[in-house]
Amino acid sequence: MQSESGGAGMLVVISGPSGVGKTTIVRSVVDRLPDATLSVSATTRTKTGQDQEGVDYFFLSEDEFMKWVDEGRLLEHANYAGNWYGTPKAPVDELLDDHRIVILEIDVQGGLLVKEREPDALSLFILPPTEETLLERLKGRGRDDEQVIQKRFSEAKREIQVATESGAYDHSIVNDDLEGAIDKACKLILDERARRSGTVNASGA
Ligand code: 5GP
Repeated sequence: MQSESGGAGMLVVISGPSGVGKTTIVRSVVDRLPDATLSVSATTRTKTGQDQEGVDYFFLSEDEFMKWVDEGRLLEHANYAGNWYGTPKAPVDELLDDHRIVILEIDVQGGLLVKEREPDALSLFILPPTEETLLERLKGRGRDDEQVIQKRFSEAKREIQVATESGAYDHSIVNDDLEGAIDKACKLILDERARRSGTVNASGA
């Protein structure tokens, strides 16, 4: 699917519970849409072996993070599973000015805040086919111990409930087939962008 060039900047929020395949979907969307860029968040969580500073996150101490909050450098921030996460505002503004599609992969609390502050943001929520598949995926990642898995699983169920009941998400995408979910996310983004610029989506949708 080709991205159109030269359209207006657009903010896209993508949320979904831990283990739903959100990161894979978001990275594939960014690969497929040349105009799309993923915002790099700030966090106080511990850097894992796979994480790259400035690529996956900006890793900050709690004091540094709170300084960024006080200085108004974050578009939104939220505490997730005991750690702070936030979206740096200046890079997002610059990318939007540059007519880019800026993707925020953030939790539901952050998603609600962005929708409140930036009502024009397109918001997508990724759902697992069933709660059981989500639990299986969390276990299958081999990343966390049983206690952390159970914590992330209950958090995931709560996130799904809040996202559904708040009505803050414009569309939901069930990740029962990865390629299908990526296609749907790309199509929703391109359709919305085409609608805003008053043109027909090049995908023919
Ligand atoms: P993880 O620690 O697994 O990388 O991320 C945990 C959760 O924090 C995920 O749901 C992720 O989407 C969310 N998250 C990552 N960056 C941000 C951010 O900047 N703001 C908010 N509110 N959530 C974030």
